[in-house]
Amino acid sequence: MPEGIEIELYRRAAARCVGRVIDEVSAPDSYFIKGGATADVLVEALVGRTITKTDRVGKLLLLDIDDEPDVLGLRFGMTGRVIVDDDAAIEKLEYASGRDDPAWDRFALSFAGEGTLRINDPRRLGGVELHPDRSTLGVDLFRVAPGRLATALGQSRVALKSRLLDQSRVAGVGNLIADETLWRVGLDPARPAGSLSDDEIRRLAAGLRRTIDRLLRDGGSHTGRLQDSRVRGGLCPKDGTPLLRRTIGGRTTYSCPLHQV
Ligand SMILES: [Zn+2]
Repeated sequence: MPEGIEIELYRRAAARCVGRVIDEVSAPDSYFIKGGATADVLVEALVGRTITKTDRVGKLLLLDIDDEPDVLGLRFGMTGRVIVDDDAAIEKLEYASGRDDPAWDRFALSFAGEGTLRINDPRRLGGVELHPDRSTLGVDLFRVAPGRLATALGQSRVALKSRLLDQSRVAGVGNLIADETLWRVGLDPARPAGSLSDDEIRRLAAGLRRTIDRLLRDGGSHTGRLQDSRVRGGLCPKDGTPLLRRTIGGRTTYSCPLHQV
């Protein structure tokens, strides 16, 4: 599933379209159009206008049009990918087909002159929306500082990992980023979110930043050091202890019972 890191790679791919004029909008799947719009409304809102900027908050990719912010929001669900000029920003997602079947093109912009931006989404759990509401999203995972993280965690008794996955608290953290970060900083994902000391919060904020930088450089959320051990019987890559496999926040969670406390 694409997490904030994948969406950042999509944003960088989409940035190639800045300065291009939208010539044609293809939105064949009405289910993929959110916020009560229709294909005709999208055509009316977008054709003849210029992409002026890209932005991202959490897993939401945003395009500014004619200098108007956040005109178009793109979401990618479990299996959505951005393909610009027929180059996929990411060749293959974990658990998804790497096949670029035209039947899975849910939305496309064609540009005057040449080039396209497409969303190819086999399971069609993503969507496009005009003027999406970004205020429901928490602090973006790339901008987590200790103070904002402390606010996001609050005094909650909810499991630390669940809180990190809550997009209204921290936007863009998915299952793999959460497990990798907590493993790196040595925190138990089942700890109550509100139980962290100030020092642990600082460690977690710094660890999240470092983990994101590393995964981004290596090409995606699935490139973490813990990744190969995320199997039944997997061992901690730090200390060789058999990993715990639990469901936390509704997601399969791997952690080390020895060094994650
Ligand atoms: Zn360990």
